[in-house]
Amino acid sequence: MDFFQKIADGILDVLFPPEPYCTVCAKKLETGERYICSACEKRLAPILPPVCKKCGRPLDTDSLCRDCRTNERTFVQARSFGHYDGVLKELIHLFKYGGRRELARLLGGRMVGTLAVLSWPDFDYIVPVPLHAGRERERGFNQAYLLASVVSRSSGVPIYRGLIRVKPTEHQTFLDKTLRKKNLEGAFKVENKSRIEGKTLLLIDDVYTTGSTVDECARTIKNAGADSVFVLTCARG
Ligand SMILES: [Zn+2]
Ligand SMILES: [Zn+2]
Repeated sequence: MDFFQKIADGILDVLFPPEPYCTVCAKKLETGERYICSACEKRLAPILPPVCKKCGRPLDTDSLCRDCRTNERTFVQARSFGHYDGVLKELIHLFKYGGRRELARLLGGRMVGTLAVLSWPDFDYIVPVPLHAGRERERGFNQAYLLASVVSRSSGVPIYRGLIRVKPTEHQTFLDKTLRKKNLEGAFKVENKSRIEGKTLLLIDDVYTTGSTVDECARTIKNAGADSVFVLTCARG
C-alpha cells in the first residue's frame, strides 16, 4: 500500500469508523448488539438458584455450603452474576488484563440485573474492593471501581472510597486456607470511619474465588463501625 493510499484509508476510518465486532468471537455486530453478538450473549448465563444462602455457591438445595458451615463469614450474603468460565471468563480477562475498560458497562450491567432480583436492603454506600496502589498504577485502573461505578450510576447509591489496601498481597488462588488468612491480615484499612458508622454497605469485586478477600474487607469495614456488609461480584470461581 503506498503512502497516499494509507492516508486515504486513514481518512475513511475517521469518516466511516470500522464496524464493531463481537469482543469474544470477532463476528460483525448487528444493529442493537453491543460488545458481544447474540450467540455469545446466550452463552453468558447467570447463576440460578438454588445457591448457598450465605455465599451464593450453586447447590442442589437452598442451604449452606460446606465452606459456610465451617467458616465464620463476616458478610451477610454474597451473590454473583455468573460462573467464572467460558464467555464470562474471557470478557473479564479482556477487561482486566487487556485494557478493555469499556467492558465495565457490559459486566457491570449484568451485576445491576443480579442486584435487581435480590431482596437486599437499601444501601448507604457501594464499596469497591481496593487494589494496592502499586497494582492500580500498573494496570491503570481498578476493575472493581469501574464495576462499582456502573452499579452506582444505575442504583443512585454513592461510592465510598475510604477502604484502601495497605499491603500488596500475593495471589490467593494457590495459597491454602491458613496462608490465605495470613496473607490478608492487615491488608485493608478504613479512612473517614465516621462516614460508614452504622451504615449498610455493598461491597463490589470482579470475581469471588474463595471469599477470603471480600470477607477480610467486610471484617475491616465492620470493625470500623459499619452495620452490615453484602457482597456482589460479577463472577464466581
Ligand atoms: Zn460473538
Ligand atoms: Zn456458602
